Amino acid sequence: MSALRKLASWELVGTPTEGVPTALARACVRVGHDLRHDATVRARLPELRWWAGRETGAPADFLVVGLATAQGALFGTGVNCAVDEAELTVRVAELTQDHLIGYEALPWPPCPDHDHPMAPCADDERACWCCGATGQALFTIGQLA
Ligand SMILES: [Zn+2]
Repeated sequence: MSALRKLASWELVGTPTEGVPTALARACVRVGHDLRHDATVRARLPELRWWAGRETGAPADFLVVGLATAQGALFGTGVNCAVDEAELTVRVAELTQDHLIGYEALPWPPCPDHDHPMAPCADDERACWCCGATGQALFTIGQLA
C-alpha cells in the first residue's frame, strides 16, 4: 500500500505555497482561469481549489493533482511533470475534463460551433482547446473570454 502525502492546496487561479513544480502550477492557473470563466461550472462547483500530493516512493516528477471543493477532494489523477509545459497543460485540462464530463455531467468547455465540449490539444508550443469535429484549434487554454 502506498500512502498519498498532500503537498499543497491552492486557489483555482492562484499559486501553490510549496512543493509543486512551477510548470504544473502554471498549467493549473491556465485551466483554472477557463474553469472560473464558465458560469455553469461556477454555479455547480463553487469554491473549487487545486490540490496536489505525492505517493510514497513515486518518482520525483510524478505527482497527483486534482480539484477539491469545501467538502473535500473531488478527484486526483497522476501526472508526469517532466514534460513540456504545453503537454502538461493539455494533461491537466484532460483530467479536469474527465471529471467534469464523466462525474459531474458538465460538458466543459462548450464548443462555440457545435453541441460538444472542446478537446485539449497541443498546437506547436501552445496548449489549445480544439473542436473535435474539425480538429481546429479555437482558443489558447487559459484565455477563454
Ligand atoms: Zn466543435
